[in-house]
Amino acid sequence: MTARGNLFIVSAPSGAGKSSLISALLQDKPADMQVSVSHTTRAMRPGEVNAEHYHFVSVDEFKALIEQGAFFEWAEVFGNYYGTSRTVIEQTLANGIDVFLDIDWQGAQQVKAVMPEAIGIFILPPSREELASRLSGRGQDSQAVIDSRMAQCVSEMSHYNEYEFVIVNDDFDSALTDFKAIIRSQRLTQASQIHTHNDMLNDLLAD
Ligand code: 5GP
Repeated sequence: MTARGNLFIVSAPSGAGKSSLISALLQDKPADMQVSVSHTTRAMRPGEVNAEHYHFVSVDEFKALIEQGAFFEWAEVFGNYYGTSRTVIEQTLANGIDVFLDIDWQGAQQVKAVMPEAIGIFILPPSREELASRLSGRGQDSQAVIDSRMAQCVSEMSHYNEYEFVIVNDDFDSALTDFKAIIRSQRLTQASQIHTHNDMLNDLLAD
């Protein structure tokens, strides 16, 4: 039996702190964890680096990749296409490395349909007021823009109950501790331990 990594799906509305939590988790570049770099058709934001934050592609390129069956899952989110590369996920998991998918609820449903053992983690803000304050950012956006962002958040949050774990990100350090606890507990399940300690178990149970 070969080592096999766990697949974690992480979803949240914007403003819940998902990217910061994933960055904090991976900041020391642990060899046994990797975040999947998605493809997207959305425009690059200032500070973003191609192939690091996303693989930025045109709509035609994205559609060609769909035709080729290159995506493990893909979805249209807020008018842009986003997708997860199939081969990268399969190879990374086969190498025994845990993979984190930062994807929306539509992608999460597709992943669960083909890989029910994937572990869903949903991150929530502590209150509507706090979310509104995080969404208003530096106060440069109109109320209409903020209202539209809030509606998108409520739509994403309505899917929280499709995930195995829910983290409420009120205090960041405590949310990070919760995140790490989920990963650790997942690595201790019998199904994971069979992979991790296969030789030891065979030895212990030999007649
Ligand atoms: P942003 O454009 O702000 O980076 O991401 C917008 C939304 O798209 C976020 O909810 C993010 O989780 C989601 N997203 C990013 N990559 C993927 C992907 O590969 N598949 C799916 N389904 N959603 C994605």
